[in-house]
Amino acid sequence: MGQMATADPFTEPFGTLFGDQITVANGGPTGYSYSGAAQPIANFSLHPGTHALHYGSTCFEGLKAHAQSDGSVAIFRLADHIARFRNSIGLLRLPVPDAELLHDMFMHAAVANVQHTPAQPGSLYLRPTILGVDQNIGAAAAPSQSSLLYVLTSPVGDYFAGGIRPLSLLLETETPRTTPQFGSIKSGANYVMALGPTLEAKAEHGVDQVLFATSGDTTETGAANFFMVDDDRLITRNLDDSFLHGVTRSSIITMANDLGYTVEERSVPATEIVERTGDTEMFLSGTAAVIAPVGSLITAEGTKQVRDGQPGPNTLKLRQALVDVQSGAAGDPHNWRTTVA
Ligand SMILES: *Cc1c(COP(=O)(O)O)cnc(C)c1O
Repeated sequence: MGQMATADPFTEPFGTLFGDQITVANGGPTGYSYSGAAQPIANFSLHPGTHALHYGSTCFEGLKAHAQSDGSVAIFRLADHIARFRNSIGLLRLPVPDAELLHDMFMHAAVANVQHTPAQPGSLYLRPTILGVDQNIGAAAAPSQSSLLYVLTSPVGDYFAGGIRPLSLLLETETPRTTPQFGSIKSGANYVMALGPTLEAKAEHGVDQVLFATSGDTTETGAANFFMVDDDRLITRNLDDSFLHGVTRSSIITMANDLGYTVEERSVPATEIVERTGDTEMFLSGTAAVIAPVGSLITAEGTKQVRDGQPGPNTLKLRQALVDVQSGAAGDPHNWRTTVA
């Protein structure tokens, strides 16, 4: 906490440094109370019977404030992250904060820590979080009426320090990533559910991630959305409740349309992925890594290299277009940037 002045986000692991100011609000049946300003970060005191610790009533968001080419700092797709956070909170049956309150809390946290925003390609990562804090271990089948809401910040460096390394994925057609009820909630429960299969895949096959395609229906990895692209077409799974609706995914689709690609949002059978490995680029998308190329897939039919195993030209083109709009190097035709300071 006190080490911000000396620590370097480009050498410390992602997510291990924190801004020294945080915004906090308390929710209850009659609404939220927020002091209206950031405060110094400090430990919370939680009753051991806190609802979230027992019954999983917690979720989060992840978004970034980027240093701009003109010297200002801007949050990328603020309103979209607020909308998704409210959706997650509602699905957990916690009191849903107004969009205006979330807007203020996100902005105040970013402004109070703006001096910790690393230069490009680093950023100030915002981690809004909510917990159900009723003190009641009997409320297994009841929602928490009260909640603790906060916006934590973390200066982060380049996810791909040392160069973009294509990932290897296990194509998993049996074990599901999560449940239908939880598929579109940005919740730690989904991560811990995907952890077992992911660790097993790493140990058995040496892969980086698992691409979940339960019964052949491809959705996403444990933490990122999946795309295929060639010179003409961008293909990704159509939205439904089975997977997380990535804001990066949405940005890529919009930019691909702008760049003249035909965008196909539809079901993506695992068999089609296997067939396309020879000639179609594949990549993952998410706020942390932006766009990460896929270099190989372990399938039921053995290991398949994706094209030549290297990041493809269309993948790199989309990645650059996205980084340029995030950093202010390009225009902002869709009003995705909100200036912090
Ligand atoms: C956050 C997340 C993503 C990526 O979403 P972005 O909005 O692009 O960061 C994908 N899958 C899961 C499970 C996630 O939690």
